[in-house]
Amino acid sequence: MIKAKLLLLSLLFFSFAVNAQQVFSTQKYPLVDFRSPLDIVPPALAGSFGELRPNHFHSGMDFRTNQREGYPVYAIADGFVSRLRVQNSGFGLAVYLTHPNGYTSVYGHLSRFNSKIAQQVKTLQYQKKSYEIDTFPSNLLLPVRKGDIIAYTGNTGSSGGPHLHFEIRDTKTEAIINPQLFGFEIPDNIPPVIYAMYTYRLNHLPFNELTPKQYFQVVGGSGNYALNQVNTIHLDGEVGFGVISTDKHNGASGTNGVYSIELELDGKIIFTSAMERFKFENSKAINSHIDYPTFINTKRSIQKSFVDPGNPLGIYSNLVNNGRIEFNDDKLHQLKYIITDGKGNKSVLQFKVQSDPKAVIKTPDMATGIRYAYGNVNEFNNSEVKVIFPKGTLYNDLNFQYKAFPKPAGNAFSAAHQIHNSLTPLHLGFELWIKADSSLLKYKEKALIVNSGGGSQGGSFDNGYVKATPRNFGRFHIAIDTIPPTLTPLNISDGKNMAGISKMSFKLRDNLSGLKSFNGYVDGKWILMEFDAKTASLWHTFDGSIAPGKHSLELIVSDMKGNNRNYSITFYK
Ligand SMILES: [Zn+2]
Repeated sequence: MIKAKLLLLSLLFFSFAVNAQQVFSTQKYPLVDFRSPLDIVPPALAGSFGELRPNHFHSGMDFRTNQREGYPVYAIADGFVSRLRVQNSGFGLAVYLTHPNGYTSVYGHLSRFNSKIAQQVKTLQYQKKSYEIDTFPSNLLLPVRKGDIIAYTGNTGSSGGPHLHFEIRDTKTEAIINPQLFGFEIPDNIPPVIYAMYTYRLNHLPFNELTPKQYFQVVGGSGNYALNQVNTIHLDGEVGFGVISTDKHNGASGTNGVYSIELELDGKIIFTSAMERFKFENSKAINSHIDYPTFINTKRSIQKSFVDPGNPLGIYSNLVNNGRIEFNDDKLHQLKYIITDGKGNKSVLQFKVQSDPKAVIKTPDMATGIRYAYGNVNEFNNSEVKVIFPKGTLYNDLNFQYKAFPKPAGNAFSAAHQIHNSLTPLHLGFELWIKADSSLLKYKEKALIVNSGGGSQGGSFDNGYVKATPRNFGRFHIAIDTIPPTLTPLNISDGKNMAGISKMSFKLRDNLSGLKSFNGYVDGKWILMEFDAKTASLWHTFDGSIAPGKHSLELIVSDMKGNNRNYSITFYK
């Protein structure tokens, strides 16, 4: 009893200790309900929540696992397995647990499930005759207690090395929440590093690749930064700001994302972004959060401190005029960036701005185009092409540009169509119809749209056109895919004795439209073939269900355009 009281006291103290390092958040989260998903001490992060990744914010915490697989993964609290997912890419093997306090925890890139879950998954894979599954067990099927081993860490799916991807979600809304707000202790007393500051001459125009910007080198360290050899910046008119900043953790060599960015003007906050929570469907709006044209051209991620009108992210608060600042008096203004990591360590960058009409930098004139408002459905048509941008596609108003190009050499069944330019980000895909040459008719089932890099956009033939939904602007034309996937056996051949060999392995790749399905049959019965997209590996693990003797093996692999490859042999076991 006394022990229990002491534990309670220490837990309370723990929650105060965490509270002592306040980070900005709009809601309170329980600090004592969850244990760590791993027993690796001290815990270290290979990736933080909200970290900037290509086309998305990182949706969880990546725990380091010493470059190894197979560490036990523990249920962070009582609850039940509410979702089991197996994917060729993405999270690979993943477990979702729903807890009675209103939160769901997610564990991804696992090497294997615990034996009870593994049995459920395998049964379902055989029932559905599919390696990939996504199933939502009832709360009675697989209950868990805090500390139960649910799985083992791995490197499955789109993982760049062994680690545990861990998420916490709001069970009802499925909004993803920063796990650091729940008191997971990650040793870190190193404040964020600020590398550079930028000014953007917005001039009351939409932000785009023509917006004049100016780079300022930042010097300093240990939480205090200043502009290099610049006392006062002279600006005039409407301006926005941006920074490059990352975070470091104790004992971790890599960099992670920062938690919050605040910009103060003369002591008043005019912009806050905080990686508290976001919705999956808004994750692509990272391309509106950052200076996307600079990212495409240089791979540098400048976080803007002004918000595009079509940006749906809920990470912003304290906004004054969306972070756009008008400088038109001759007063000296104090600006201050306060950048905070998930543990509350802060770095500050201060500088002065004075308006000066001579310092105005005009935005270059846009080439003429059709003005599309970001909040509307917009449509473009000519005799060769039709484009529809659904509501919610654009982050800013756009001067839309279109240009036709002659039919490219090689695998092409239409002219090429330049649909605006690749420096403008899109939140949603847009509908694109391209008129097909009459020579396409005999291949119409094989038709798709590709971009100038040859990347498939998918698509299907529809009344003289091929229609697809590209997710980026670019140059597009119609191509065909008549080539089935390639399948290369690695350790099996016709007549081979496979006794004593634990699995049969293949490489499986497709050239254009992408893999649709793979199915294996032994003596006519479906067997589980597993596939890892990043290594193009396809395999079957012999689990004892194939008896010793002579057997037939048939593999059928198909791409998205119905091109099939069959592989039939006999083997001995
Ligand atoms: Zn991750």
